[in-house]
Amino acid sequence: MARVVVIGAGIAGLVAAIHAVSDGHHVVVLERKSKIGGRGTSQNSDGFSLHFGPHLIDKSGPFYKLCKQLSRVKPSIKSVRLDKIEVVGFGPIRPVGNVKQAALNKQSIRAKTPGNPYFESVKFLSTWGIEENEQRLKSLLKSKFSVSNEGWIGLIGRLGAALDEVGVLVETGCEVVSVNGGKVALKDGREVECDAIILACGAGAAKRILEKVDEEIYSSNFANLSPKFAASIEAGLSSKPMAGKHCLIDYENNAAIIDYMAIQPKLGTTGSHISAIITGGTENSRIERLESILDTHLSGWKSHLIADLKQKKIVVGYSNCVDYDIFSNQRILLAGPWVKSEYLLSDAAADTGKRAAKGLKSIL
Ligand SMILES: Cc1cc2nc3c(=O)[nH]c(=O)nc-3n(C[C@H](O)[C@H](O)[C@H](O)COP(=O)(O)OP(=O)(O)OC[C@H]3O[C@@H](n4cnc5c(N)ncnc54)[C@H](O)[C@@H]3O)c2cc1C
Repeated sequence: MARVVVIGAGIAGLVAAIHAVSDGHHVVVLERKSKIGGRGTSQNSDGFSLHFGPHLIDKSGPFYKLCKQLSRVKPSIKSVRLDKIEVVGFGPIRPVGNVKQAALNKQSIRAKTPGNPYFESVKFLSTWGIEENEQRLKSLLKSKFSVSNEGWIGLIGRLGAALDEVGVLVETGCEVVSVNGGKVALKDGREVECDAIILACGAGAAKRILEKVDEEIYSSNFANLSPKFAASIEAGLSSKPMAGKHCLIDYENNAAIIDYMAIQPKLGTTGSHISAIITGGTENSRIERLESILDTHLSGWKSHLIADLKQKKIVVGYSNCVDYDIFSNQRILLAGPWVKSEYLLSDAAADTGKRAAKGLKSIL
């Protein structure tokens, strides 16, 4: 049994901790913030559980599969329907009652016709424009993209509860400032000794920590890692400006608007829970552009606003990811969507979290 410190209690860290503890290691998770979940967390405001941007679960991906496996009661999820996804200026991806158009749309998507509004839209919705991903595209087209009745944070809570049940300590409010030869130094001056470290604190914090560990490995591996930024607006409204539509895609502006309540009625039947995202463009203008897209497509939404949460700049994903074991000679393994994986987004976090935990045996 080895002493393993997991740094970061986002999806990657929680998943790594679950697999490490089930392989018999003694695990401690250290989290800088006061609550777990990282970018997958949410904030309660006037009855709405507001997220850091739209989060759709791929029910065939490793994150959801693990949540299901850990739960005595299966999470209740509802799928995003293709007939309820509208491409702005063109119409639904699968128009009901227009078999010919539905078949044409399907054909263009299958052929991946560049510039075709339907293909460009599903491509954007499947990965928020990070990069094309066959698995996520297939899942979206098979209606496997879903919304949970307990919100994204409910699924994170299931990971936390599983760790609690087996006695793993998740210490919050605990910022790691450096790691050095089996010692983890905290901002409050404490040091934690361990046999191995899983670094799952997001690429930005990982970079600051790893740069000091080995400058050469750091610079040769992290030089090309590039974050993709987004802005997002979540809003609880007393009205239903989406009129039952699950999603509107403005692919020319790299933007999408989702109504969680239309997809998952268990979240509430009066009003709507709008979640909008925009990627690309310059940092300063992103949030203003997204607001004006909301003004255009959901006219009057502001006068029905109950609660909102805005992110001007948030990392949604990465390209040119790094290998999980580049620091294995220091007994440090890496996890998160910035680490190479066949998956993207939360599924990459879950996949790399598992890989790091399973990789422990090769470095101990
Ligand atoms: C706008 C947006 C939309 C998204 N949409 C989707 C979607 O539709 N579907 C999907 O599957 N995924 C989606 N994602 C992706 C998903 O949220 C992330 O991939 C996932 O949450 C990343 O988890 P993580 O654990 O790697 O990182 P993070 O969530 O960033 O967690 C890292 C944790 O480490 C902690 N930490 C940082 N530094 C330190 C330190 N020095 N010491 C201790 N702790 C530290 C942080 O506080 C944080 O809790 C979206 C993300 C965003 C931002």
